[in-house]
Amino acid sequence: MHKITADWVCPVSSEPLENAVVITDNTGKILAIESRDKHDPASLETYRGILVPGFVNTHCHLELSHMKGKVDTGTGLIPFITGVVTQRNSNAEFIAEAIEKAEQEMLKGGIVALGDISNAPDTFSIKSKGRMRYHTFLELFDFLQDAGAEKTFSDGLAVYQQLELAAGSTRSFVPHAPYSVSKSLFERMNEFNPKAGATISIHNQETPPEEALFLKKEGAFLDFYGKFGISLESFEATGRSSIYYALAHMNPANRSIFVHNTLTSRTDIKAAQAWSQNTFWATCPNANLYIENRLPEYSVFLDTQARVTIGTDSLTSNWQLSILEEMKTIALYQSYVPFNALLRWATLNGAEALGFEDTLGSLEVGKTPGIVLIQGVSPDWKLQREASARRVV
Ligand SMILES: [Zn+2]
Repeated sequence: MHKITADWVCPVSSEPLENAVVITDNTGKILAIESRDKHDPASLETYRGILVPGFVNTHCHLELSHMKGKVDTGTGLIPFITGVVTQRNSNAEFIAEAIEKAEQEMLKGGIVALGDISNAPDTFSIKSKGRMRYHTFLELFDFLQDAGAEKTFSDGLAVYQQLELAAGSTRSFVPHAPYSVSKSLFERMNEFNPKAGATISIHNQETPPEEALFLKKEGAFLDFYGKFGISLESFEATGRSSIYYALAHMNPANRSIFVHNTLTSRTDIKAAQAWSQNTFWATCPNANLYIENRLPEYSVFLDTQARVTIGTDSLTSNWQLSILEEMKTIALYQSYVPFNALLRWATLNGAEALGFEDTLGSLEVGKTPGIVLIQGVSPDWKLQREASARRVV
């Protein structure tokens, strides 16, 4: 049994508690949360700081961990994708080592669950060990070529079938992005995935050329596709932002995580919320700064009660894989976002987005959420730049 206390306990599902004790069994299952004065101080593990639930990272590409530092910062999404496509091949041992190291980094920083994009089986042996709860997004794209959808899907299925799920882990087929997935491929994935309750993600509204493609069939994506010899002859502009193409072809009965959203407007959020009650908005601020040097406007997400979650994206587009560092970036650039909102985005919202809230996301009796100690939050609840986080249970 563990009896842990700190200056504050933030259950996330309820108000912060001063001088409270979290009692767990040896598996980390929470048995009770009680007041400190009920306990002999000598029986307690006592910390300075704040105890919070383990972090949930809703967007990563673990399989790209070996490309850390390989692609330049600040060039925009299209040069970034070109860099990934042309440089991702490497030797299998190097890739596997980088993945293992990346998982260790996340565990150490208090991450207990991961929504992870896979195009290939490189991460599957790590995932089968069950050191975190994983939702694997088997991600497909056919560069808007309806004729290629069936072959893309059957190749993807061969990868999907190699994944052995550890207890508590899940998987689904997901579209990469509106600009890379044909209607036929959306349909093929919808047919295969559960008809309700599955977790789906899609990269969304990340770069101005994505909007130009859908609004007017103009801009840098045409050159990008041309360079790879792909014809967009059959593609027609919808005259609306890219998210509406996604909404038209995704299943509102599933949970949908829209990822990045740097260009998403209040109107877009409301349209998605009207489309489904199960929309989530994964923000990866450090990756946004790395790739496009811009951030989403978080005030519109707060105003619309959007359920925001936090992702690290991959080591190809980030300097580290740390949810605390993502929270710090938001606190630095848009400091009006309250600490309690950041904490909810980093924990319970993420658990709900991945369908893992039965065990994770909040300090509640019966859950095994992991307990993380955050140090470096000021008395007025501002996350300081020197703040740190580590797993204590
Ligand atoms: Zn991504």
